Amino acid sequence: MKMSFSKSSLSVLLLSFCLVLISAEISIAQKSKVADNPVNFRVEPPSWWAGMNNPELQLLVYGPDIASTEVNFSYPGITLKKKHLAESPNYMFLDLELAPDLKPGSFAIKFMRGKKAAYTYNYVIAERAPGSAMRKGFGREDVVYLLMPDRFANGDPSNDNMPGMLETANRSNPVGRHGGDIAGIRKHLDYIKELGMTAIWINPLLENNNPAYSYHGYAITDFYKIDPRFGTNSDYVALVNDAHAKGLKVIKDMIFNHCGINHWFINDLPMSNWIHQFPEFTRSNFRAEALTDPYASEYDKTRLLQGWFDTNMPDFDQRNRFLTQYLIQNSIWWIEYAGLDGIRLDTQPYPYKEMIAEWGKRVFEEYPNFNIVGEAWLNREGMNAYYQKNAIVGDGYNSYLPSITDFSMHGAMARAFTEADGWAEGMARLYYVLAQDFLWSDPYMNLIFLDNHDVNRYFNNVGNDLNAMKMALSFLLTTRGIPQVYYGTELLMDGAEHKGHGEIRWDFPGGWPGDQVNAFEASGRTAQQNEVFLHMQRLLKFRQQSKPITEGRLLQFIPSNGLYVYFRIAGSQAVMVVLNNSQSPAKIEPEKYKEVLGKFTSATDVITLQKLSLDKAFECAPRSSMVLELSR
Ligand code: CA
Repeated sequence: MKMSFSKSSLSVLLLSFCLVLISAEISIAQKSKVADNPVNFRVEPPSWWAGMNNPELQLLVYGPDIASTEVNFSYPGITLKKKHLAESPNYMFLDLELAPDLKPGSFAIKFMRGKKAAYTYNYVIAERAPGSAMRKGFGREDVVYLLMPDRFANGDPSNDNMPGMLETANRSNPVGRHGGDIAGIRKHLDYIKELGMTAIWINPLLENNNPAYSYHGYAITDFYKIDPRFGTNSDYVALVNDAHAKGLKVIKDMIFNHCGINHWFINDLPMSNWIHQFPEFTRSNFRAEALTDPYASEYDKTRLLQGWFDTNMPDFDQRNRFLTQYLIQNSIWWIEYAGLDGIRLDTQPYPYKEMIAEWGKRVFEEYPNFNIVGEAWLNREGMNAYYQKNAIVGDGYNSYLPSITDFSMHGAMARAFTEADGWAEGMARLYYVLAQDFLWSDPYMNLIFLDNHDVNRYFNNVGNDLNAMKMALSFLLTTRGIPQVYYGTELLMDGAEHKGHGEIRWDFPGGWPGDQVNAFEASGRTAQQNEVFLHMQRLLKFRQQSKPITEGRLLQFIPSNGLYVYFRIAGSQAVMVVLNNSQSPAKIEPEKYKEVLGKFTSATDVITLQKLSLDKAFECAPRSSMVLELSR
């Protein structure tokens, strides 16, 4: 089947698909749901705030035959501009205009059938938290700890299985639910803080009421509700507040490309073009390269944008204005409701890029100092850089997303520390990526990572080589960019992605009641684990107060014979990083680096805390790193 349809053939296709599949199957399922689902009347966003920058708000209203009702409400400062009906009689979209002097309060929206209110919703206009609009998002000063909530810690075993949730906990199933939750994260914030992290990115926490694979969270079935097996919306707010009290920022994982097939609006689509539909299941080609390829076929681009991510993940059509409004408002609702410091956007190239740009723009109009990192999984610098705000490569497209996952750097780091040095191998891999930073509008804002929840554990990549691991961590935490560390890296967690995602998402030892080992405490970690933990901790704590690393520029020397030296420089302060990836000691001659070292007389190794003089050559041990704070 061809993927590029003409408009008319597409609508015939959609129509027949809808008639056959949706009418015959899905709406039958819906009918039985209508009868016994008490939450079958919804208004979303469920609440809003006074004093938002954007005066417009569009409510999605859902209820059986809501289309046949008349809307009735009165509240000073809120005007109903327009009412839209959908293809399904169970939806209504209300365009509201909010006056600049709108006051917090609440009011009843009545949906009248004749003289009787068929539905009533008490809408709350809340007061914004002080300083809400000017919140500072995560940035160059931060190091992000990525954790998978089902696999980090089970702080509340009583929520492992919840009524109405289709999948129950089974810790022996590597791709089942293991019971981790928000309570578990709250319990271990001190651990994360003590390691030296300043921000946490938590994989999605919203409801995923799917019969299997629900643990990872990427098949959302309710965009306004934390999955009850993780906790409640209030628990999430409490987690953010706890984190803030400890100086940790919180980044929410969001997905605009798809939702879960059990999402309530997939069971009863407002419009047939809410999602991309095909006569038979059609998967995305996952080839985001096609979008920036000047020679790309429409076939490949369409397949990327419209194919489904997986059988249980219907693919949104963000050209639908009602859907776009719904998703944008949802993200703003969560920022305001939970007090977020950032968003990680899943699969950035997969939704239509115009929608991503509109979203980015809208978010920053409300929160000018916020930050968003887009997951643009592209392995080459130019294609990767296209997705950053104010991109200087490509066709002039501006995503408005300040941070991008730096997969080019990830690819280089995956190999740099395990291969012999060559013109373009070993340390030169890192150099080559950085030497192309002219392609990025702001490479210092790139999210850099050794691994994450989708790829090989880094310790696996380097064949369990502790020296490679420590050198890589030294590099990650001192080069340009915002480092992201995947939970368990500090424990040398191992695991190959090709053996299954369960392998790269092990439970954190000590997170579950009755665990034999408790790696949250030094006494529960092996000597090797403590060695890496300490290495990271010293670097992380140093980094927090190091202007050259968090604000400064990068200056590098071309690697040679496995020796890679670079500096971070801010004003009169500088940090020197030495990576010796060779099998023999490297001699560092200060003369070669005098353009920076000329101003300094001594240095302190931030890991060993040893001091050394810069008036003579010094050695860096084989396969090791030195991070040196320079002094006059
Ligand atoms: Ca639990």
